Amino acid sequence: MSALPGPGTLVLASGNAGKLRELGALLAGLPYRIVPQRELGVEDAAETGLTFVENALLKARHASAATGLPALADDSGLIVDALDGAPGLYSARYAGSPTDDAANNAKLLAALRGVPEARRSARFYAVIVLLRHAEDPQPLIAEGTWEGRIVETPRGANGFGYNPVFLDPAHGLTAAEMDPTLKDHISHRAIALQRLRERLSAERGA
Ligand code: IMP
Repeated sequence: MSALPGPGTLVLASGNAGKLRELGALLAGLPYRIVPQRELGVEDAAETGLTFVENALLKARHASAATGLPALADDSGLIVDALDGAPGLYSARYAGSPTDDAANNAKLLAALRGVPEARRSARFYAVIVLLRHAEDPQPLIAEGTWEGRIVETPRGANGFGYNPVFLDPAHGLTAAEMDPTLKDHISHRAIALQRLRERLSAERGA
């Protein structure tokens, strides 16, 4: 396997402010300077893949090719069982482009109107990819899921996206009612990044 990037700069291939905050917090302590791609003049990549992992790879490759640096990308979404997995891969633009969180949540709640609590299961999913360079044939890939339910009325104001409608049953809170530090321990993105961190440490120590 080719060498992992040593201590140095890692481009974060995301322009989403909410994700940047979470990824920045979750990556703290690693020997990398994490720079959002926008600070290096890199625009968002076209997300033309048909799976989360394809889109994460597209985003990371785009950022790495544009900067010549190793790149980290996340692709994520909300999967609702009663909607056959929608909004899924299209979570960011469920109600159209550009991304409008309030419109997405309203569309989701309308689609689930009348669906009883027992059938409102859902999960957040995230895949995180680390490319050592743009042509890296063996990227590090890690995924995470967070099981929950979709509430009938949005609650809370923290974070972004579907946070106000996603209930974590174990805590009895929506993701938007949670302290961000709690979300950073239990979320799909946190689990994926923790797995990535473990693999990074294992390989760097090897
Ligand atoms: P993408 O990964 O940039 O394609 O966007 C994923 C979309 O999924 C976001 O714009 C949100 O709508 C939704 N999403 C992903 N993770 C979260 C989360 O942690 N909270 C709320 N919404 C999320």
